[in-house]
Amino acid sequence: SQGDEIRQLLEKKAEEIGLDNIKVSLTGCFGLCETGPNIVIYPEGIFYSHVKLEDVDEIVEEHFVNGNLVKRLLYQGAVKEEAILPVNEVNFYKKQTRVALRNCGLINPEDIDEYIAFDGYQALAKVLTEMSQQEVIDFVKAANVRGRGGAGFPAGVKWETAYRYSADKKYVICNADEGDPGAFMDRSILEGDPHSVLEAMAICGYAIGSDQGYIYVRAEYPIAVKRLKIAIEQAKEKGLLGKNILGTDFSFDIELRLGAGAFVCGEGTALMESIEGRRGMPRTKIHRTAHKGLWGKPTVINNVETFANIPVIFQKGVEWFKNIGTEDSPGTKVFALGGKINNTGLVEIPMGITLRDIIYDIGGGIPNGKEFKAVQTGGPSGGCIPKEYIDTPVDFKSLAELGSIMGSGGMVVMDEDNCMVDIARFFLDFTVEESCGKCVPCREGTKRMLEILERITNGEGTPEDLDRLESLSETITNGSLCGLGQTAANPVISTMKYFRDEYEAHVYEKR
Ligand code: SF4
Repeated sequence: SQGDEIRQLLEKKAEEIGLDNIKVSLTGCFGLCETGPNIVIYPEGIFYSHVKLEDVDEIVEEHFVNGNLVKRLLYQGAVKEEAILPVNEVNFYKKQTRVALRNCGLINPEDIDEYIAFDGYQALAKVLTEMSQQEVIDFVKAANVRGRGGAGFPAGVKWETAYRYSADKKYVICNADEGDPGAFMDRSILEGDPHSVLEAMAICGYAIGSDQGYIYVRAEYPIAVKRLKIAIEQAKEKGLLGKNILGTDFSFDIELRLGAGAFVCGEGTALMESIEGRRGMPRTKIHRTAHKGLWGKPTVINNVETFANIPVIFQKGVEWFKNIGTEDSPGTKVFALGGKINNTGLVEIPMGITLRDIIYDIGGGIPNGKEFKAVQTGGPSGGCIPKEYIDTPVDFKSLAELGSIMGSGGMVVMDEDNCMVDIARFFLDFTVEESCGKCVPCREGTKRMLEILERITNGEGTPEDLDRLESLSETITNGSLCGLGQTAANPVISTMKYFRDEYEAHVYEKR
């Protein structure tokens, strides 16, 4: 990649002129995708953006040799009234709290020693040497870590359920089958800090009594896969994975399973079918996964972001974690901020800050002076929130009350030019493509719904089509087998609720 080339050239140039006190480190995503490739120079935290290969000479000569800033490369937001702000004080980062992303953009994800230098694997050591299985579970429950993959289910409750069922084998699965359009939170964590996920999975394995973990990761994430492989290998070499971890009786291994890009495989039961070697289709859920999951054994499935939170909570404590966010939704949430927004990128916010804070203070507002219209959270399963609710706090409960969901973290901003019927059509189109076809309401219902939406956006819809959309939404939501179908109508339901005038304009004032 261009970032790699810049790094290599920077190393070469620094070596050529004998600057041996400079360490050039490759890092994962820094968050501000919009401005990459980025270089941050520590200890001052000087942030250079849009760096090209031809800029390297100037950075070395001017910054490192002469001690001057290369002003034209300074990230705009870092310059305020002629003063240069350290990176964590620029607007994009000021309202963020980095917990799951704490090491992303800071350490070299391909070097376990850097992770260890930032207190990595200390939580695992503490758990294995000082805590019983029940104490680990009680700790996660006390912190009220809620799943970041969408539903917000308490992780500690899942862990406890799997712990309580005795079985000859138990499993820990990390769901890294991120498939929402525009979402790249999990990918960035795996690419930027893979050891945090491995460490957390080992902690979970100890807590429930499992010696085997799987990471189900999309094959379309080759860098994440490569870095996970390196991380697993390095952790085994250091005795932090595999047999008798840190000289204890506890053994835990992790294997990768690559998903072939089916969105439905992010659904827990479909994911397990896929790991077991069958076609990835959801199962009828008779038992809880924590009771009978993978190969019918007690299994914990958490997503990447949930796991990435775990080690640092063991290091810093329950109270530290609960002081971030709200009482009902402690901690942070990572969002992939995209659409009509100035600062496209990856952001991690404490739960409870408002949509306005995210869109205007962190996201830098809407480009070209346009007006904000709505924000879509939760991907194809989520809903559109209109501008009247821009001061809504972002937490599990508040978003659900508005008919949307936190989801895994996609956040797409729309401006005055977006047609909301077209937005609903876009998400339905995605769902129709990804429906596995196992049950009729989802397989047929979403297709019929898409046909109606296409008719409406083509100016051929009728007022009766609006009734049909409502009736189909109800049937698909109530009759589908898995979460994909049960939530497929959400973008339609929420846009019809908040932007009915646009649907009516299409059918009554035909274009
Ligand atoms: Fe498949 Fe859709 Fe039914 Fe889920 S709801 S099982 S994705 S057809």
